[in-house]
Amino acid sequence: MSSSPCSARRVSPALRRPEGEREARRDRSRGALLGLALGDALGAPFEGWRRAEIPAPLPEFAGGGTHALPPGAWTDDTALALCLADALLANPELDPADLLSRFCRWAEAGENSATGIVVGIGRTTAVALERFRAEGSLNGPRQGVAPTNGGVMRLAPVAIRWQFVPSRAGRIARRQSLVTHALPECLAAAEWLAAILTAALAGAGKAALATPPGAELAPHLGVLAEGRFWQADPATLAADGMALATLEAALWAVAGAADFADALRRAVALGGDTDTSGALAGQIAGAIWGASAIPQVWLEKLHESAHITARADALFDAAAG
Ligand SMILES: [Mg+2]
Repeated sequence: MSSSPCSARRVSPALRRPEGEREARRDRSRGALLGLALGDALGAPFEGWRRAEIPAPLPEFAGGGTHALPPGAWTDDTALALCLADALLANPELDPADLLSRFCRWAEAGENSATGIVVGIGRTTAVALERFRAEGSLNGPRQGVAPTNGGVMRLAPVAIRWQFVPSRAGRIARRQSLVTHALPECLAAAEWLAAILTAALAGAGKAALATPPGAELAPHLGVLAEGRFWQADPATLAADGMALATLEAALWAVAGAADFADALRRAVALGGDTDTSGALAGQIAGAIWGASAIPQVWLEKLHESAHITARADALFDAAAG
């Protein structure tokens, strides 16, 4: 792990900063889930665009894109995160069959979608749901698929629910990835991201990004385990839809950001899988800076932000007892 620039900037943005440790944790929990949705919605209009095509300054929540979404609407990242939140509220240990059933209801009937219409289902997820329907398989495919980012893009609810028991957060992070994204890189990325998020939710600030992945995870994480993202040249960042590349892009975006909004803009501006880079950067940045650091105008533009806040609160209340 490289020496950390985490002390370089201590951002204190919150005019509405909550009082007390419990309320500070609630604020960061809300930030993680709202951040996931905001990053998704911010990036959705530019999904698949090359970096050079992304406008600067970035148009914010204008809608459009591949899925012709209305302004402030989210894609599969947030829909599946909300399905995961619901599954954790039903069973905190997470029942894989229940989670897959919820994913199927999203795919077939738009449950937890922003518009009632399913958008953005990834190939690996589609194969996993088909296997579940046809054979009852509870594990995602390991053959014929790439290690894509579906298991990390939706992770925040696990970290919120298990923030007081980080080892359990890691185990359930793997469990939720396994149902669709079962390759070793995907499982390792999910477990490590859970550790980063739980550290951030506990109040570590940017130092959370320096959370070590553990000896058993590091071999699956490549340059991520070496902390390259702290000083990476953006030209080396792919943001191409793979789990490790997208996570590296998001970590880079947050590591160099001045505040919550800057982190999400930096992630989306990389191009490529912009909605998921945004969703990943958003959940990390939100866990670090909290909902009170999110621009009010962003919350007003996000589809159903009160509903997302309520889901985060339910997870937090279940966690905190
Ligand atoms: Mg998406």
